[in-house]
Amino acid sequence: MPAQTDHHVHGHIHGAVIVGAGFGGMGAAIALRRLDIDDIVILEREDDLGGTWHVNRYPGLAVDIPSATYSYSFEPNPYWSRMYAPGAELKAYCDHVATKYDLRRHMRFGVVVDGARWDEEAQVWIVNLHDGQTLTTRYLLTATGFLSQPKLPEIPGIETFDGTVLHTAKWDDDLDLHGRRAAVIGTGATAVQLIPEIAPKLAELTVFQRTAIWVTPKSDGPVPRRLQALYARIPFTQRVARGIGSGILEALMVAAVLKYRRFKLFNQTAERVAKKHMARQVRDPETRRKLTPDYSFGCKRPTFSNDYFPTFNQPHVHLETTPIVRIEPDAIVTEDGARHEIDTLVLATGFNLWDTNFPAIEIIGREDRNLGKWWRENRFQAYEGVAVPKFPNYFSLNSPYSYSGLSYFTTIESQMKHMTRLLTAMRRRGVSRFEVTEEANAEFLARMKRNLGDSVFTLGSCSTARSYYFNQHGEATLLRPTSTIGAFREAGRFPISDYALS
Ligand code: NAP
Repeated sequence: MPAQTDHHVHGHIHGAVIVGAGFGGMGAAIALRRLDIDDIVILEREDDLGGTWHVNRYPGLAVDIPSATYSYSFEPNPYWSRMYAPGAELKAYCDHVATKYDLRRHMRFGVVVDGARWDEEAQVWIVNLHDGQTLTTRYLLTATGFLSQPKLPEIPGIETFDGTVLHTAKWDDDLDLHGRRAAVIGTGATAVQLIPEIAPKLAELTVFQRTAIWVTPKSDGPVPRRLQALYARIPFTQRVARGIGSGILEALMVAAVLKYRRFKLFNQTAERVAKKHMARQVRDPETRRKLTPDYSFGCKRPTFSNDYFPTFNQPHVHLETTPIVRIEPDAIVTEDGARHEIDTLVLATGFNLWDTNFPAIEIIGREDRNLGKWWRENRFQAYEGVAVPKFPNYFSLNSPYSYSGLSYFTTIESQMKHMTRLLTAMRRRGVSRFEVTEEANAEFLARMKRNLGDSVFTLGSCSTARSYYFNQHGEATLLRPTSTIGAFREAGRFPISDYALS
């Protein structure tokens, strides 16, 4: 995209500004570069690229989507060491992609973006940085992630705690846990990976669980060198492995989540499998009872592990389900009056999606429409999970209904395809402005609402799940309720007339 200047806006106008240098932002940059949009700036608040895989470094971190599937389809990595690669390999893969696709030159690290405003007169986005600078761009893309704003629990007295406090997304690599008396608050997918890793080092560990998580067995293992060599020599073989992984995930998503009405037997079977797994692994019946969720499988993100449950058999590990009332300088106090003395407090409390994300920065579109405010006052919505009326030339990659399938790469690649289709059509017509129409957006929202009617979110027993799939209005607006194959096909076929182009 050639640099342009304008009577109204001074200075250089970039082709595109992308906020976020994780897998989503990098995928978007690759898509734009393929369209010869080269004047791209990628802004990243952290000091390096990789998003989640740069920020999260807690012990036990690994992907829980098969690695052959959790990667860009156009950039397979034959050398994943395990079926579910550890976090450090994901970060190394991000680095490799950035280097190979020459993305680093676009990236600026340690840059906090406060917000962006559409300038209708100049037909550009003005991006405001926290240090007071501004950037001007033709296209704006936000790839700020879903799980990127760590959530700190609002427990009275937490600020008075005298020992070490750390959130899993802000792990301290130098922290020596040996001999400590620690508490972990939270039992989500992160805690399930973390707890078995840290327990052996600790003198005492108390796990504070508010809501139990469904945990099924994990079939993991190293990828033998010979198989890695085969993947490298004949990439088709790894595509087959990827296809199998994707197929299983798709079946899981469609059956267990989207088509609950027809397939609830599947969810019930998964619950039985998880309970049997626990029965084999946890000796104490009372602990088993506490670890058993009281909501339908699928309402909340389940996980799998072979070493989470057995951790609770260890005499120095305690599971506490009595609600926490306050934190004192050296203890957690529960509702029954018990003081649990600790010197280390690990917050595996996850991320805030619906209050501080959607969007992660302030976005002001045409007619002063504030995206965050509009979403909250109306409904969370975005056409095809990427575009919103009154926000011209803006792709919001982490939108309501954008997350398609279980592997995030199915979302990323659908969105790359959507952008490519739209921008290619625009180039053919010689236009540079797009804005999704109100009708197309309303139709998409109505369809998503309809589809949700068949899902576990509507028909399952989800009220006690406290699932982040649901927003503050109790609507399950995170996941896109269509098959990933359907979403991918649509990304290449949506009517161009769903956008007003000029
Ligand atoms: P999470 O699933 O949101 O879990 C947070 C946990 O903290 C929940 O058990 C929650 O209890 C608890 N909690 C939060 N505030 C609390 C409070 N004030 N008092 C008591 N408990 C509180 O977060 P996460 O485990 O970090 O996982 C987030 C997501 O990241 C996962 O669902 C997954 O999508 C992704 N993830 C992926 C992997 C992987 O691929 N390997 C690994 C880790 C995470 P309630 O449920 O009662 O709110």
